[in-house]
Amino acid sequence: MKLNDYLFRNNRRKFLKNFSLALGSAAFATPLVSMALGDSQQNKKKLGIALVGLGRYSKGQLAPALQKTENCYLAGIVTGTPSKAKEWQKKYNIPEKNIYNYENFDEIANNPDIDIIYVVLPNAMHAEYTIRAAKAKKHVICEKPMATSVEDCQRMIDACNENNVSLSIGYRLHFEPHNQRVMELGQQKVYGPVQTIEAADSFVIDDPSRWRLDKELAGGGPLMDLGIYCVQGAIYTVGETPTSVTASFGKVTKPEFFDEVEESISWQMQFPGGAVANCTSSYNNDANRLYGKAANGWWELSPAYSYSGIKGKTSEGPMNIPNVEQQARQMDGIAQSIKQNKFSRVPGEMGLRDVRVLMAIYEAARTGKRVTV
Ligand code: NAD
Repeated sequence: MKLNDYLFRNNRRKFLKNFSLALGSAAFATPLVSMALGDSQQNKKKLGIALVGLGRYSKGQLAPALQKTENCYLAGIVTGTPSKAKEWQKKYNIPEKNIYNYENFDEIANNPDIDIIYVVLPNAMHAEYTIRAAKAKKHVICEKPMATSVEDCQRMIDACNENNVSLSIGYRLHFEPHNQRVMELGQQKVYGPVQTIEAADSFVIDDPSRWRLDKELAGGGPLMDLGIYCVQGAIYTVGETPTSVTASFGKVTKPEFFDEVEESISWQMQFPGGAVANCTSSYNNDANRLYGKAANGWWELSPAYSYSGIKGKTSEGPMNIPNVEQQARQMDGIAQSIKQNKFSRVPGEMGLRDVRVLMAIYEAARTGKRVTV
């Protein structure tokens, strides 16, 4: 069995087990991802994706990756800026009928070219556009963090279930071989049970006008944007959901930037099997690392979460794993699961789980108390 197939199957089994433990078995009264595929979708070689929100990530990463995908292609766009629509139409040869704005977006329901809607908007807008996409009976990929509240995440899952469409979160690292190797090392206890994890993801924000500093649009600061990678990294290292968290906010050094969201935060997550993860995230320095230590060895990715150039080593030496086109793999993987009517590797329930952990971390930082997840 190939490594990817193995991880997929194994993760799915662990995933279901973890979620049934964390959420109660009632959560599985309905399938994790239910979907009704028309014959036309199953027979299509490539599913059509419409990107909603043509900002930096869509422009710099997703659209270029969609030129390299095998199971999906850039079929449409949704934008509030007419000049961007023109530019994209020309560059990617997008038919006029596949270009929408935020007002006529719901008419996408009548467009058979669009199979998947990929929501790439500021965090607080994910819920509205995911729910509207589900009501248009389109499968959804939603960027991370899934939403700015647990309640919104649940509403998004419900809407997708009610409309029989799949919901996946844009967790590209589940399709990235170094991070997949970490999942294997940790979850398979290759060096024995995981004892400690260290994770850091930070960058410097130098433009105070960015929506990432607006509490209403971002839902929070670096924790929501970058710290989520540390939460994910620790969880997929051990293959468990943390039981409790403690946390504290860092000092504010630029009050003119950070009057709404935290500038930096550090937190600890305790896992049921005894592992402990120490994590930091900040908008005032650069960090990008995922480290794990087990009874008989250790491993480290540094950088761990970048779009390219990921490097890994273990206590035995360099990992020597090639880098891949992450976003192409991610979208191909998700499109394939839709075509084959299989579970998404990165379902909405995973996004909800993570937002629940993020909210517990915020509560722990605010109260100074240990918070049960
Ligand atoms: P961005 O600011 O570059 O783009 C946001 C887009 O949303 C723009 O096109 C903007 O015009 C549009 N928009 C619509 N309404 C808006 C409003 N009220 N305020 C601001 N913008 C509005 O942001 P981005 O970096 O592309 O991030 C978009 C989403 O993608 C975020 O959820 C982010 O977390 C996620 N993201 C994920 C990754 C990843 O690696 N998975 C990387 C970058 C961003």
